[in-house]
Amino acid sequence: MSHSLVTMSYIVSAILFILSLSGLSNQETARKGNYYGMLGMAIAIVATTLSGSVTAFGVLIGALIVGGLIGARAAYKVEMTQMPELVAIMHSMVGLAAVLVGYANFMDQSISLEGVEKTIHEIEIYVGILIGAVTFSGSVIAFGKLSEKINGKPLLLPGRHWLNLVLLIASVVLGYEFLHQTEASGDALIPLAIMTGIALVFGIHMVMAIGGADMPVVISMLNSYSGWAAAATGFMLSNDLLIVTGALVGSSGAILSYIMCKAMNRHFLSVIAGGFGTTSGGESAAIEGEVQPIDADETAKLLKAAKNIMIIPGYGMAVAQAQHTVYEITKLLRAKGKKVGFGIHPVAGRMPGHMNVLLAEAKVPYDIVYEMDEINDDFDSVDVSIVIGANDIVNPSALNDPNSPIAGMPVLECWKGETTIVLKRSMASGYAGVGNPLFVLDNTRMLFGDANTTMQAVLKALENK
Ligand code: NDP
Repeated sequence: MSHSLVTMSYIVSAILFILSLSGLSNQETARKGNYYGMLGMAIAIVATTLSGSVTAFGVLIGALIVGGLIGARAAYKVEMTQMPELVAIMHSMVGLAAVLVGYANFMDQSISLEGVEKTIHEIEIYVGILIGAVTFSGSVIAFGKLSEKINGKPLLLPGRHWLNLVLLIASVVLGYEFLHQTEASGDALIPLAIMTGIALVFGIHMVMAIGGADMPVVISMLNSYSGWAAAATGFMLSNDLLIVTGALVGSSGAILSYIMCKAMNRHFLSVIAGGFGTTSGGESAAIEGEVQPIDADETAKLLKAAKNIMIIPGYGMAVAQAQHTVYEITKLLRAKGKKVGFGIHPVAGRMPGHMNVLLAEAKVPYDIVYEMDEINDDFDSVDVSIVIGANDIVNPSALNDPNSPIAGMPVLECWKGETTIVLKRSMASGYAGVGNPLFVLDNTRMLFGDANTTMQAVLKALENK
C-alpha cells in the first residue's frame, strides 16, 4: 500500500472514531456510533498491516486470530454485571501493551537516531512505559475491587502523600539517569527497570487508597490513562493514527472524570489523593428505627392508586436482570394512564451509563428516562418511588451526615415523595459500605427479595386485578 493511501486511510479512520464518539454521546445514536467505531478500527488494522511496516505477517495473523478469539469469547460470555470488570481489565491490557512496546523499542538495535531525535525517542520510551505501568497495575487493582476480589475499603498507609511524592521525585531522577546513561552508552536498563517497578507500585497504591464510593472517578480516570498510554505507544511506533486515537480516548476519559467528580461533588485531586470521606474524624450516624416490610400485592395496590410514579434503578437491578420485568410493569401502568418516569443517578451501577444500557436493552423509551438533575426537585409531586436494587444513590445521609463516607454526594431525594418502596434482598449496605436511614423512614416500605422475582410478583398482582 502506498504511503499516501495509508495516510488517507488513517484520516478516514480518525474521522470515523470522532463520529463514533459523537454517536456514543446520545442513546438514540449510540448504535450507529458503535458501527462507526468498528469500521474505523477495521480500516486502521488493514491499513497498518499493509503499510509496509509489518514484515512478520505470520506472527501478526496468528496474534490477530488468538487476540480476536479471546476478545470475542470474553465479550460473548460476560454478564452485564461483569461489564465494568471487563472494561477495567481491557484498560490494563492497553497499559501492558505500552510497557511491552516501550521495552521492545528500547532493545531494538535497528533504530539509529542521533542528537535531539534520539533524546526525544528516549523520552517517548520512558514516558510511555511510565504511563503504561501505572495504567496496568492501577487497572488490575480496579478489576479486583470491582469484582470484589479486593476489599473496597480505602487502604490508607501512614504518610501516603509523602510516599507518592517520593515515588514521583524518584521517577524524575531516574528519567534523568536513563537519558544520561543512554547518552553515555551506559546501562540504561537499570533506571528504566527501577522506574517500571515504581510506576507499578504507584498504580497499585493510587487505586488501593480510593474508597468504594469514589471508584467511578477512578474508572473514568483509568480510561483516560489508557488513552494516553495508547498515544505514547503511537509516538514510540511513529503511528499517527494511534496518537490521534489515544488522544481522543485520553481526553474523553478526562472529561468523563470531570463529569463524574461534578456529579459526586468531589474535587478530582482529593479523589486521587485517596481516602475521601474517612478523614472527617467522627463516626457516621447509626441507623435506628423500625423497618416496615411490604409484599407484592400491597405494592400493586399502592401502584394502582398512584398517579405519578418514579422508578430508581441501581446496581441490584443489573444483578437481578429485572429491567425487562420493570418495563413490562411500566407499560401496564402507562396504559392505565399513569405517569411513569425513570430517575438515573450518574454513578448508579458499576460503570458510567450502566443503567441507561440496561434500560435501552429492555427498550424503555428514552423520553421517560431522566437524569438526576432533571427530576430531583419534582419528588414532592411523586406518589410512589420504586427503588430497584439501589442503595448509595438514595442515601439521605449523603446530605445530612457530614461524617458519612458519601457526605456531599448529591443523591436522588425520593423520600420527599409520598411513599418509597425499596426492593432489595436484605438490609445489607451498598458499594460504599454505609448504612441507609432511608430504609427506616415512616414513608418507606421494604419489599425484600430478588428484584426480578418481586417485580414479577408485582406484575402478576397488577394483571390479576
Ligand atoms: P449500591 O451498590 O449502593 O446498592 C445496590 C443494592 O442492590 C445493594 O444494597 C443490594 O442489597 C441490592 N441488590 C443486589 N442484588 C440484588 C438483587 N438481585 N435484587 C435486589 N436487590 C439487589 O448501588 P447503587 O447503584 O445505589 O450505587 C452505586 C454505587 O457503586 C455507588 O457507591 C458508586 O459510587 C459505586 N460505583 C459506581 C460506579 C459507576 O461508574 N457507576 C463504578 C464503581 C463504583 P441486598 O444485598 O440487600 O440485596
